[in-house]
Amino acid sequence: MPDAISPKRIAILGSTGSVGTQALDVVREQSAHFTVELLTAGRNAELLIAQAKEFNPNAVVIGAESRYAEVRDALFPLGVKVFAGAEAIAQAVQMESIDTVLTAMMGYAGLRPTLAAIDAGKAIALANKETLVVAGELVTKRAQAKAVNIYPVDSEHSAIFQCLAGEWENPIEKIVLTASGGPFRGKSKAELALVTKAQALKHPNWDMGAKITIDSASLMNKGLEAIEAKWLFNLRPEQIDIVVHPQSIIHSLVQFRDGSMKAQLGLPDMKLPIQYALAYPQRLPNAWPRFDFTKVPAFTFEQPDREAFPNLGLALAAMERGGNAPCVLNAANEIAVELFLQERIGFLEMSELISDRLAKATFVPSPTLEDLEASDAETRRAAHEAMNSPQWRS
Ligand code: MG
Repeated sequence: MPDAISPKRIAILGSTGSVGTQALDVVREQSAHFTVELLTAGRNAELLIAQAKEFNPNAVVIGAESRYAEVRDALFPLGVKVFAGAEAIAQAVQMESIDTVLTAMMGYAGLRPTLAAIDAGKAIALANKETLVVAGELVTKRAQAKAVNIYPVDSEHSAIFQCLAGEWENPIEKIVLTASGGPFRGKSKAELALVTKAQALKHPNWDMGAKITIDSASLMNKGLEAIEAKWLFNLRPEQIDIVVHPQSIIHSLVQFRDGSMKAQLGLPDMKLPIQYALAYPQRLPNAWPRFDFTKVPAFTFEQPDREAFPNLGLALAAMERGGNAPCVLNAANEIAVELFLQERIGFLEMSELISDRLAKATFVPSPTLEDLEASDAETRRAAHEAMNSPQWRS
């Protein structure tokens, strides 16, 4: 571990994505506190090369092996080690020189490298919620056994974590996750049947990657966040409330057993939760814009519309059921979002596809990692197959 003055050595998995690039903005502004040891990207070789030239990491990994030669040739003269493939990512996170691993890659692909980093005793800054959705029990148990801390990066979970500072001995009565409601708040089911990909990709408050932006529009994101919160904060499902707060200034709340509630507020900017997770327990000074009450004079709250947005109910039901149900939910959702982004299915058909998979998948009450891998693969296969036969459409 670094002492008080030596910078923390960071690995960023998914460095070319939305959270990854914002994490590098934080590192750039806080260069006295952080250095970059490892960057990994899926297939964006150009940006990975540019990032490595600026931040001079010890090593980089490009997921797509077809882009390996290009990255190696560009970075070899700089002495940066270059690897390729998913297996290399899981190995590279274990490098001796890394203190903290920020997991910011998209989807199920985050699970294996996160487990590898935990096994190597690295602190985790968790931006990949799918890891806990799919394998929350396994991941949190292994982190406990290895005495590894998982620091949330998701803004809602960072808010809860910040509210809990100094309250470690006080049991949580419940948490309240806030949701912006996304671009389709207030729309009826009939209207949602007709929304387009371009409309779904326009989030009112947050600037994020395509997958999470669609998840926000369908409220699946809030359901995944409920499952993530259950594991991060060791909660029962009935301790998790969700409220729509369209201004996205209150990032979430905690209610303690005396009835007192604490909230964390700020502008919707991912740099803040990223920096808090990387610098914890310190709060580092910065010059980012501050919230101004004269510009947002009223905060409003409403209940989410579960009828119009069935994904939320599907996710909460999967959380209640436990076992491999959240894994099936996640895999079916990843395929559904992919098909929606390819404009092969409509917005509401995403829910129908997920619901169909959850109803038909074999339930495994206490899945091993191998069971989860099998459930994930089988759900993806079956979801693709269902695309070619119309029975799942209601
Ligand atoms: Mg969030």
